[in-house]
Amino acid sequence: MPAVTVSDITILPRISDATHLRARKIKSITTAPQGFEGEGFPVRRAFAGVDLAELDPFIHLDQMGEVEYAPGEPKGTPWHPHRGFETVTYIIDGIFDHKDSNGGGGTITDGDTQWMTAGGGVLHIETPPEHLVMSGGLFHGFQLWVNLPAAKKWLPPAYQDVRANDVALLTTTDGGSLIRIIAGELDGHVGPGSTQTPITLIHATLAPGAELRLPWRKDYNALVYTMAGHGFVGDEQRPTGMGQLTVFAEGDAIVVKAANQQESRSPNMELFILGGQPIKEPVAWMGPFVMNTKREVLQAFEDFQKGLLGSIPAIYKEDAKKPLNRSKFPDVHNAPTDLQES
Ligand code: MN
Repeated sequence: MPAVTVSDITILPRISDATHLRARKIKSITTAPQGFEGEGFPVRRAFAGVDLAELDPFIHLDQMGEVEYAPGEPKGTPWHPHRGFETVTYIIDGIFDHKDSNGGGGTITDGDTQWMTAGGGVLHIETPPEHLVMSGGLFHGFQLWVNLPAAKKWLPPAYQDVRANDVALLTTTDGGSLIRIIAGELDGHVGPGSTQTPITLIHATLAPGAELRLPWRKDYNALVYTMAGHGFVGDEQRPTGMGQLTVFAEGDAIVVKAANQQESRSPNMELFILGGQPIKEPVAWMGPFVMNTKREVLQAFEDFQKGLLGSIPAIYKEDAKKPLNRSKFPDVHNAPTDLQES
């Protein structure tokens, strides 16, 4: 698991001691079901079974892989539309190419993030590059959907790369954890990702036996997904392991402790930690569209059919081999195609 690593963790800035802060209690721990995405890469649906109101301002989180591809095997998504939110793709191992109808795009690899604001509408494609398809290799990453408030759902589409080298690196007072801030703020330290809604995204690595006690904004929700290893959450020390999501209740600090013994294939406990200010608006979500009402979602599909969400740019001629099917409701990212509301 490369992402960003450091040779000497003890030289990093340390977050404030949070032992005096009120630890958030555990609201729920759920296990992500496994499935397959797009043309066939394995995913864990991290938010499955959790109410949208608990996740607000987030909508959807997929752990992609970790998987070791044979040559000729890696898969991506076809061209597809989005409207009303942001897609954030964090690659831990492997390489991913992104292209969109707005001219955005780039290649991201170990520890990089691509951040696309779909806003009023965009088409994009996310695939491993041809040479990786030829060679095969390890692939592991996350795709997160961050909702936009009604006032921002019609923003023009935008794209940003967040490079691994720009991620803010911190440790705890005991030096037992590596904290990578991808976006947002933690204890006065700020990550590089530019966000439309106030959120914090962190990838943390805990050595066996290490305790992570993070000061966490009171007005943010708090979600911790265990991507590898196992340990305990909250001062209640509820057990959690790979593929499990913890939703925390109110309070001032997130507490996670890595078990003293970890499996040899994942020697550390690896966490994806996220929270943000709830938007507190009605959510109407179907497939790749996240709006406030069902009517707006159906409008998004009609607009996609009319070509108003963009078309595949002519420079991507090779993609014309798989033309866009505008007659069918887009079924991508394991997103439910029946209406989800809150
Ligand atoms: Mn997409």
